[in-house]
Amino acid sequence: MAFSKFGLSPSILKGVKAMGYVDPTPIQLRAIPLLMEGRDVIGSAQTGTGKTAAFALPILTRLDQPKGFPRALILEPTRELAAQVETAFRDFARFTQFQIAVLYGGVGYGRQLDALKTGSDIVVGTPGRLLDHLQRGTCKLDRIEFVVLDEADRMLDMGFLPDVRRILERCPRHRQTSLFSATIPPEIETLIQWAMRKPETIEIGARRAPAETVRHAVYPVAEDQKNDLLLTLLDQVQYDSVIVFCRTKHRADRVAQLLKRANHAVAVLHSNRTQREREQALRGFRDGRFEVLVATDIAARGLDIADVSHVVNYDVPQHPEDYVHRIGRTGRAQATGDAFTIMVTEDARHMEAIERFIGRSIERCKLPGFDYHYTILMDAEKQRRGIVPGRVTGVRLSGGYFFGPAKRRRR
Ligand code: AMP
Repeated sequence: MAFSKFGLSPSILKGVKAMGYVDPTPIQLRAIPLLMEGRDVIGSAQTGTGKTAAFALPILTRLDQPKGFPRALILEPTRELAAQVETAFRDFARFTQFQIAVLYGGVGYGRQLDALKTGSDIVVGTPGRLLDHLQRGTCKLDRIEFVVLDEADRMLDMGFLPDVRRILERCPRHRQTSLFSATIPPEIETLIQWAMRKPETIEIGARRAPAETVRHAVYPVAEDQKNDLLLTLLDQVQYDSVIVFCRTKHRADRVAQLLKRANHAVAVLHSNRTQREREQALRGFRDGRFEVLVATDIAARGLDIADVSHVVNYDVPQHPEDYVHRIGRTGRAQATGDAFTIMVTEDARHMEAIERFIGRSIERCKLPGFDYHYTILMDAEKQRRGIVPGRVTGVRLSGGYFFGPAKRRRR
């Protein structure tokens, strides 16, 4: 089925065509007809499935004509996502006169006030800054017809649900509400009951599965060789663009320095960076000026960065969902990508939790030519593969080494 069958307005269809979309993705196939009918929709699709267009195209069609006051509200957990969704709306609406305002914190009010004064039809924002505008009376939601709660589970993680409720209380009850979330924990369920009317749930693929086009590999290594392994991995892999995920801002800065010293063109993305620095990092990465983006989970959540060929987890994520979100940066919209995870001994438990979560085991790999130090992981690996009988206990087992003889490297 083509986009032309959905009953989208001709100018919006033209925008879709200009974006180069030919066939709708599964979430678009299922969500667009329901949203066009006026139904409330819960979408449990992940990022990278085309969910932005799934909600944006029906909203733009049903808004019909610009009226000069906010009628559609899209709530996003992070500024980057808000900026990205605003860009998507602008792209789809490029042959229309709709005005779009994007409201997020960390920047001045000037441009946002201008956008609101010129009469925006669509407001995309993060909860904190939007509440500021509501309290100052600079934005009004009393004529909102469409609400989208995007990445609702991340809004919950970030403690935004009370703000989301306050915002929804300012919107008319008679409206269309859609909610997108990779998981539906009880708090979101409560929000759904309160904020939505007879919603239809759309689940695309297994809720937990990472993009199927991604190849996964785990690289076990001793703690003191993590940096060397990362550098060697980047040397050996043919990549176009790679995101390296770290557990903390501090570690992200340290890894970025390491890569810079090794002559990689590196940008860093975490929440201690100013909005301007974050925008520069993202723009430079998208343009190809930086080949490596080092990021923390919160900063990178849901970002649509096209053509990321590789994701490297410098640190194993502590929450299995974060693995799926990180991996979602690659293999987006049917492209293939590789996802590498560097694992040290203390990560073994988290790695197993990830494998249980995604319902498959991930191959342990060894970098050819890398001078491995011994780690208990190597024995554990033999156990996994049944090379040595017995259980993996975390106790050093006798026998040879799965990764070859242990050698201490002289520094
Ligand atoms: P999203 O899940 O909305 O972040 O979209 C992920 C990526 O897929 C974005 O780069 C979109 O521009 C792209 N995309 C969305 N829908 C389609 C489609 N029907 N055909 C091709 N690309 C698409």
